[in-house]
Amino acid sequence: MASDRTELRILVTGGSGLVGRAIERLVKGGERRDGEEWTFLSSKDADLTNVDETRAVFKRYRPTHVIHLAAMVGGLFRNMKYNLDFWRLNIHINDNVLQMAHEHAVAKVISCLSTCIFPDQTTYPIDESMIHNGPPHSSNFGYSYAKRMIDIQNRAYHQQHGSRFSAVIPTNVFGMDDNFNIEEGHVLPGLIHKTYLAKMNGTPLVVWGSGKPRRQFIYSLDLARLFIWVLREYEEIEPIILSVGEEEEVSIKEAAESIVSAMGFEGEVIFDTSKSDGQYKKTASNGKLRKYLPHFQFTPFNQAIKETCDWFVANYKVARK
Ligand code: NAP
Ligand code: GDP
Repeated sequence: MASDRTELRILVTGGSGLVGRAIERLVKGGERRDGEEWTFLSSKDADLTNVDETRAVFKRYRPTHVIHLAAMVGGLFRNMKYNLDFWRLNIHINDNVLQMAHEHAVAKVISCLSTCIFPDQTTYPIDESMIHNGPPHSSNFGYSYAKRMIDIQNRAYHQQHGSRFSAVIPTNVFGMDDNFNIEEGHVLPGLIHKTYLAKMNGTPLVVWGSGKPRRQFIYSLDLARLFIWVLREYEEIEPIILSVGEEEEVSIKEAAESIVSAMGFEGEVIFDTSKSDGQYKKTASNGKLRKYLPHFQFTPFNQAIKETCDWFVANYKVARK
């Protein structure tokens, strides 16, 4: 429970996931300021699809600030299979969290959108003004529309109640504590796990799709630093894209090569073009972020991949997979 000297009680939903654990690492590693009390929730603390459990957890921790990360999350192939579940679970979670934040007079909520929710047919680079300009890619429409509604809800809370509820829009995230499940997870943790197994078993590494689609990847520790900055400094209701520059975009093939090199894999690499490529690209502008933080240094991609691969190898037994 908070002491009298606590000024900010920060509740992080989804605190046990990839992004939540990265924020926790920084907070425990010296980023916490005097007067701040941080609580990291997992679904074991409360099932946020359930309004009573959500209310109980808000009552218990009485947050002044919320970082809302909890969501049903997955890579392309999980999204394609479960569009209905992605829509329903995320709509319930988001409505419960935002409404409880409102009822408990939370001063600021920062939720998490994603660049994959933008219109599929668009001009590039994508920017913050374009979220609702057309249908998202068909592969993940359930997740995308549920996430888009957070932006609608934030604007409505602000209009009706003056609430300071906003959101960030990260590109593809990766790092330690990711979900390395091959069928369900995102491309980088999936390829890291597959490379580990291919090396161990002396089999080829199978990359799904053509390898041509392009992505901007952000390291979870960089995203965590930006999240903490947004919580403390960013005052707009309009969301902000958190991304490396457009020039840092890489193809899936280049990303696979970086993993192969980091893992020291010397076997054959095969592209299975019977598998979906998903969205070809979703190149996002970090122009708005750069106006606020012109000197922010992102970890170089190959270094971040190496750190993630080393973590996975060292933590193989306990990693989520
Ligand atoms: P993750 O590793 O899959 O973690 C998801 C988190 O949500 C976990 O802490 C999980 O708790 C919690 N959660 C799921 N269902 C819940 C429920 N019903 N009740 C309470 N908690 C629940 O996801 P992540 O990659 O860290 O994603 C965090 C946020 O970033 C999400 O909002 C996601 O949409 C967004 N995002 C992710 C990416 C990416 O590439 N990963 C890109 C852009 C945006 P348990 O640990 O107990 O299951
Ligand atoms: P997205 O960025 O939202 O589309 O999701 P992902 O992180 O799942 O990336 C999907 C892209 O990576 C597609 O072009 C897939 O064809 C390609 N890909 C290659 N190998 C894999 C893999 O092992 N897992 C996943 N999820 N995608 C892969």
